[in-house]
Amino acid sequence: MKLSRDKVIDCWNFFERRYGTRHVNKRTWLMSLMAKKMGIRQLDDFFNSYSNILGDVIYIPFRLGSWDRSYHSQLVICAHEHQHKIQADRMGWLKFAWKYATDTVFRTNMEIEGYTVGMEVYHLLTRQIPDVPDVNWSDYMVKDRDAVFARTNFRIIREMIKRGGITRQASKDFREWMQTYED
Ligand SMILES: [Zn+2]
Repeated sequence: MKLSRDKVIDCWNFFERRYGTRHVNKRTWLMSLMAKKMGIRQLDDFFNSYSNILGDVIYIPFRLGSWDRSYHSQLVICAHEHQHKIQADRMGWLKFAWKYATDTVFRTNMEIEGYTVGMEVYHLLTRQIPDVPDVNWSDYMVKDRDAVFARTNFRIIREMIKRGGITRQASKDFREWMQTYED
């Protein structure tokens, strides 16, 4: 699919309508509190590199449709964060946010799903088989054994994608959005 600014904005609109979310710039007191709770020391990295969701609000460190980020990664972030919205809806967002901030195994599992969506969206957009994502797990403050577990998962997911598997809900939503552009 050929990407454009309009398509990036349209994709975010599609997801935001479906899940009742909205996006804002992420430098807020609430995100600072989350960062402190997670024990994050590299606050600049946290604020400049990562997106987050809290309740219905997605905090993004770039202007939507701008040149700050590749269009591809703005689409991946949209699907990734909405996968977290789906996770949070299952258990209630307050419980989700607290567990995410305080439980590294839970956080790892939630991020495995998020990065799986990134792999699946990459495949949908490019028809290529994605590499195992090079996640900087130390930025997530997870333990080494959790990072090893995550890499093992990603290798399995890569094999599933080779066999045509698109497994996560946000990836399926993304595929549905893409189909609105097919003749
Ligand atoms: Zn995530």
